[in-house]
Amino acid sequence: MLKLENVNKTYSEHQALKDINVTFNPKETTVIVGPSGSGKSTLLRSLNLLERPQTGLYTIDERTINFAEHIDTATTLWVRRKTGMVFQQPGMFNQLTILGNVIEAPIHVLKQKKDVAITEAHHLLEAVGIGETADRYPYQLSGGQTQRAAIARALAMHPSYLLLDEPTSALDPETEAQILRILKKMAEQNESMIIVTHNMDFARYAADRILFLEDGRIDFDGSPNDFFEHPNERIKKFLNAFK
Ligand code: ATP
Ligand code: MG
Repeated sequence: MLKLENVNKTYSEHQALKDINVTFNPKETTVIVGPSGSGKSTLLRSLNLLERPQTGLYTIDERTINFAEHIDTATTLWVRRKTGMVFQQPGMFNQLTILGNVIEAPIHVLKQKKDVAITEAHHLLEAVGIGETADRYPYQLSGGQTQRAAIARALAMHPSYLLLDEPTSALDPETEAQILRILKKMAEQNESMIIVTHNMDFARYAADRILFLEDGRIDFDGSPNDFFEHPNERIKKFLNAFK
């Protein structure tokens, strides 16, 4: 379980998160939607400690972190290991093959044996549909293949939660659909995921739960059915923009 209580984050003047209270349950797929600048990335990055809110509590499994206090390196690394992150533009190690990228952290951070890591990496690359790219270098992959490799690389660390920030927004519609199919399948397999996306079809059909952010606040927290079938006036306006 990931739980944020009374979390506030201010960038110089601008308050990006306003008194956020939310719990993410294991085995659920939560989709975060909302207008540009509403705080979606800030919220997601706070869960991975890439952003540091000024106040509030963050409980991750049985451990509670107080954002107002110093967070030591060991705790930060522990949180990052629990919460794997996939970015819009995944950074790959260009000097390593795709296989090398996937096994890097499992070997050096998890201390997995190399042959074990390699076997699993092949398995993960197959699972995301790019088994044939294992021996290629990042520059030899398309955008969609790179994003799949990034998902495989995140999964290789066995995070308790997978956080994805607009994983398909740099892709063409067809490639986006392929990636979303993979994520939907992972959702059906009860992977614990939190995904920021502007793809409303994905939100409707893959999410167990939707969060709608507006101006740093959570304005809606509920089922896709309630979100899409019984939207309030503000959400209606937001959804109309996608029609
Ligand atoms: P988008 O859909 O465009 O990605 P978002 O919902 O992810 O938007 P955030 O990136 O979380 O929004 O930004 C929330 C607010 O905080 C915005 O007003 C943004 O300008 C501001 N902000 C984000 N990062 C910084 C930063 N590093 N310094 C100053 N302001 C920032
Ligand atoms: Mg964002």
